[in-house]
This record gives sequence, C-alpha cells and structure tokens, in this order.
Amino acid sequence: MARYSVYNRHATLSSAVAAMHPMAYLYALQETDLAIDSLRQQIAQIDAQLGETEELIQLKTQVEATRKRIQQLHSQQRDLELETLSLQDKIKGVENKLYGGEITNPKELQGLLEDLQALKKQLSLLEDRLLTLMIEGDEQEKALRKQEERLSQVLTAWQEEQEKLKAERGQLEEQLRLLEAQRDAQVAQVAPPFLSLYEGLRARRQGRAVAKVERGLCGGCHIALPVSLVQRARTGSSPVQCSSCERILYVP
Ligand SMILES: [Zn+2]
Repeated sequence: MARYSVYNRHATLSSAVAAMHPMAYLYALQETDLAIDSLRQQIAQIDAQLGETEELIQLKTQVEATRKRIQQLHSQQRDLELETLSLQDKIKGVENKLYGGEITNPKELQGLLEDLQALKKQLSLLEDRLLTLMIEGDEQEKALRKQEERLSQVLTAWQEEQEKLKAERGQLEEQLRLLEAQRDAQVAQVAPPFLSLYEGLRARRQGRAVAKVERGLCGGCHIALPVSLVQRARTGSSPVQCSSCERILYVP
C-alpha cells in the first residue's frame, strides 16, 4: 500500500497526479465514459431526425398524385375532343344529305332527321362531359400550384434543418473522437482487473460503476457507509465496494 496510502490534497499538481489514488483514475474514466454515452445518445437522436419527414413524404406523394390526375384528365380530354370532331363530321354528313336536295323520299328524310337529332343529342352529352373534365382540370391545376408551393416551402425548411443537423453531428463526432482518445489514455492507467470490475458494474448500474463518497454517504445509493469501509476505500489500493449498491467507492 506504499504508493497510494496517502493522498495529499495540498501537494503540487505534478505530485498530486503522480500520487493519484487508483480509484481517482477510475472515477475520471467514468466521467469520460458518461460524456461519451451522452454524445452517442445525441448522435443517435440526430440520426433519427435525418432523412425525409412524414410531412415531406406526404406532400411529395400528394403532388405526384395530383400530377397524375391532371395527366389522366388531359388524355381523357383529348379522346373526347377527337370523339367530338368525328361526331361533328357525321352530323355534317347527315345534314348535307338532309338538305342537299338529292333525297326526296319523305320517309327517308324523316329517318335522316331522326338520325340527326340522335347525333346532336350525343354531341351535347359529349360536350357536357368535356366541360366537366375541363372544370376538374382547372381545379386540379390550382390545387397542384398550391401543393407545389407548400412542398417547396417545406422542402427548403427541411433542407436547412438537415444541414444544421449534419453540421451538429459532425461536431459531436469530433468531440467523440477526442473523448475516445482520452479514454484510451485513461484506460492505460487502470489495472486490468479493476477495469473489468468497472466495466461489469457499469453495465449493471446504468453507466455508473464508481461512487464518490461525500460526508460518509455513498454517492450512488446514498446510504451511510461504515467508517471502516470509508477508511479502507481511502487508503487501500484495491477497489472497495459499497455494501448496498456494489459501486466502487472513491473518496476524494
Ligand atoms: Zn452505494
């Protein structure tokens, strides 16, 4: 117990470092590990926010659907226009026969007249359908412009947000790399059996394997520790664990 038996608070910095209690190394390691945990959590939170949002996906889908509908309407409109043209030709043909003077048979003329009426009725129905399509087309065009405007706003805000998140993530990654290097240096200061005790406790105790002892209380579970235990934790060079929460006690 020679090397660690006395920890002189009033020593100069360099000798204080040289005389640091082994549990002080573990405690410092834990501070680093907790900071690493927190950084990793923040990075995971950012990762969850990266990528397209529900709102953006919905808006894109909506714009896509409206565009498709407009295409359908245009193609139906073209078909109806062609149908209308051919019907108008037919009507013209019948009218020419009817009024051309070549046909004089009243029965035949009556038949042509009835044909003409039927064709005109058909034409009027076609025109109604065409008008309905054109009205819907106008409405869809208006809706599309609104949807595209909204999409563009949301997209711009989203892109800005994503850039910010990526920059923030980069900074966190940088901090993480520094802390990981610091951790490697700290781990090198800790005896392997202490380290495996520490790792095991950390896994079981929500990342906190080492508890600071303050005014005789365990900083982990806050029970009052026996004086002899605190004394052993202060002076011994091996880990002394809390009798209640098992954490390694560190007496600063
Ligand atoms: Zn405890």
